[in-house]
Order: sequence, then structure tokens, then C-alpha cells
Amino acid sequence: MKISMISEHASPLAALGGVDAGGQNVHVAALSTALVRRGHEVTVYTRRDDDQLPARVVTDGGVEVVHIDAGPPRSVPKDELLPYMDALADGVARDWAGAPPDLVHGHFWMSGLAALNAAAQAAASGYTVPVVQTFHALGTVKRRHQGAEDTSPAARALLEPSVGCNADRIIATCTDEVFELKAMGVSGSRVSVVPCGVDLDLFGPAEISREPGGPFRIASVGRLVPRKGVELVIRALRILKDQGIDDVELAIVGGGAVGEVAGDPEAERLLELARELGVDGQVRLRGQVPRERMPLEICRADAVVCAPWYEPFGIVPLEAMACGVPVIAAAVGGLIDTVVDGRTGLHVPPRDPEAIADAVLQLRNNPEMAQQLGRDGLVRVRGRYSWDRIAADSEKAYQAAIATADTRRTSLQRTGGKAL
Ligand code: UDP
Repeated sequence: MKISMISEHASPLAALGGVDAGGQNVHVAALSTALVRRGHEVTVYTRRDDDQLPARVVTDGGVEVVHIDAGPPRSVPKDELLPYMDALADGVARDWAGAPPDLVHGHFWMSGLAALNAAAQAAASGYTVPVVQTFHALGTVKRRHQGAEDTSPAARALLEPSVGCNADRIIATCTDEVFELKAMGVSGSRVSVVPCGVDLDLFGPAEISREPGGPFRIASVGRLVPRKGVELVIRALRILKDQGIDDVELAIVGGGAVGEVAGDPEAERLLELARELGVDGQVRLRGQVPRERMPLEICRADAVVCAPWYEPFGIVPLEAMACGVPVIAAAVGGLIDTVVDGRTGLHVPPRDPEAIADAVLQLRNNPEMAQQLGRDGLVRVRGRYSWDRIAADSEKAYQAAIATADTRRTSLQRTGGKAL
């Protein structure tokens, strides 16, 4: 198949860990590469966010990345990108001219708008380009959790459901998202659930030498934004300290530039909180970590704590499981599917530092149990979450989208071009 991906803000080539660069970048890069391995031709369209970028780049994995001029050629927060989606769609449609793909897959709601727009331009020239959509995050959920702090454009409330209703197929990354999509008015019959995957060649267990009697090391990994709940983990350290347990060390990975945190407001806020709570001696801010070093960073930990307020999917728990490290995970969104409570990690209720402290204590006091959870996590990700498997499942969703688009085209022909 000839497949176009659109990922407006999340380039597969970007460095990860900044405010707007995380799971979506990993997902688009890894899914595209796995699809190429399966014999497909994949082009990813993304917005040019640096005027030095070449127009086209082919990655080592054989994925073509095309930078489209849409808005200023510099980094722009994703919540300010909506005005440039028409230009992005025009650029994509121009690139397709005369040879459109077999389908277009939009990532995030704004890319969905661009995908539908580009497909409509192709339709005007007589081509059918089925549209598949992965939202990665939903505005309704974000608004529920972030309230007035949500900086999404107001139009998202109308435009996102319209993408959901007009795409030929929606890929939800977890079962919880299916409920949210239905609440948005999307018919469940057009939704396939295909989770994100993990790079099993990169992430795997490693023996890390430890000083006997050293601290119990936990890690929190991800973009440094408040909703990732790192603050809750710092609060859990204080709760443990009040119980006389101060041998727990927290490494915070993400934010800032590589190897430094100075100037990252969230990093500074977290550090200040740790100081106020008197646990700053137990907290290490490691800043943004390049992809290749991430497995080592995770393997150094005795447990990875993922305590988001909400989480559309969450690739980090899969990376931890792939490293054989147990996960303490808030029971929200994708983490409900990926982390099996008591088997591959421990679930805690969202926004509950007491429960995080209890879970850390359980693992600290039961090393054998912690190791067993890690081993079972590894078995689970190897069996279910390789990108090759995710690519194969995505292909099924693509076939379903092609069938829907064919039916739509046939009905339009029968009705003389008027939608039924
Ligand atoms: N990540 C990274 N370096 C960092 C911080 C994060 O490579 O400094 C990666 C992390 O390993 C994971 C991704 O960014 O692959 C975050 O994905 P996740 O789905 O957990 O969160 P999202 O960013 O989608 O909210």
C-alpha cells in the first residue's frame, strides 16, 4: 500500500521530552517504519518548524518525511497551529498531485482536519483517498481534567467530533478511548482498537550493578507537563519520609534540553516543591534524555512510576515493561489496558500520592515480587506490543477504511453524487 501519514506538530525526526514532543512522535516514527518493513511505502507529512530543514528526508528505516510550509518555519506551540491546517492540507494535496496514496492516516485532531481536506481535494480530481484517524488525545478529556488551563483553541470542541464523524475509520489506542469517542457521537462500528507499541530491539532488560543496601530507585519519565503527575510522586516521597523511609530516590526524566533543566519552568516548579517538602535530596532532575539512552535510564530504576491525571495511551509503561522493570501506574486511560494490576505492575487511583507511597513501599519491601512483576511485564509486551504486531493490526484497520470508502463512493455514484 502507498500510505500517507499526517502528523502536524509531531515530527518523527524531533528530539523527545519537550512540551510537545513525546509519544505521538514515537508512534508515528515506529508505526511508519514497521509498515515499511511489511512492504508498504510510507510518507509522513509534518509542518516545517525550522527553515533549515530539507524538503524531504528518508529515515534509516525507509520512511520518507516531507516538511510542508504551513505557518512560520519555527517551533509554534501545538495549540496555536489550527490556522495553518489549510496550508498543510494544500501542501499535502499538491504533493499527491496525480498519484494519490491508497489512504491517509491523520495523527491528532488537527492532522485529521488536514487529512480530510487533502482527501476532499483529491476527490475533486476524481480520486478516493480513505481517511484513517488516530486522535492520540481527545479535547473532551483534556478539558475535563485541565479546565481553564486547557489552551486548546475553542473550535476544537466542534472540529474534533467532526473529524471523528467524517473519517472512514478511527483507530482508538485503548478501550477507554472508545467510550469517549462514542460520547462524542462517533459510531463504535467505525472504531478499531490498536494500541501503541514498543521498540523491542531498543528496550530490553540490562544488568545494572548495584551497591548492596543502596537506595530504592524510582523513575518518572516523560514530557514535563503538570498532567503527567510528577508532583504526586514528589508528594509520595514526603509521605514515605513521614513514615521514616527516606531511602527512596526519584529520577525525573524529560523536559529542558538534553542533560540540563535550567530554564524549564515545570522542572523548576518541581524542584521548588521538593525543596519545600524537604525531599530535594532524594530527587534528581535528569532533563531530556535522547532515545538511545532511555533504556539504560529505565533499567537503572527499581520501578517506574507513571502517575498521570489522565493518559490517552502512555508508551513509557510499555518501555518499562520491555526493560523488565515493574510499573506503578495510575489506573487511567491506556494504562488500564497495558499494566495488569498485580501481574505486571501495581495500579493506583489517579491523583493519589498516598497510594503511590504505598505501592512504592510494597515494591521496596518485596524485591522478589517486584522482580516477578518485571518478568511478567516483559512477557506481556513481547507477546502483544511489538510494532510489527501493531503494524499488522493497523493494516486491518486500513483495509476496513478502504472498504468503507469504496461503499461511500458506490453510494455516491448511485445517488448521482449527492450524499445519502
Ligand atoms: N522520551 C524520551 N526522552 C525524554 C522524555 C521522553 O525519549 O527525555 C520518550 C519516552 O521514552 C516515550 C515518549 O517520549 O517514548 C513519551 O511517550 P508517552 O506516550 O509515555 O507520553 P506522551 O508524550 O504521549 O504524553
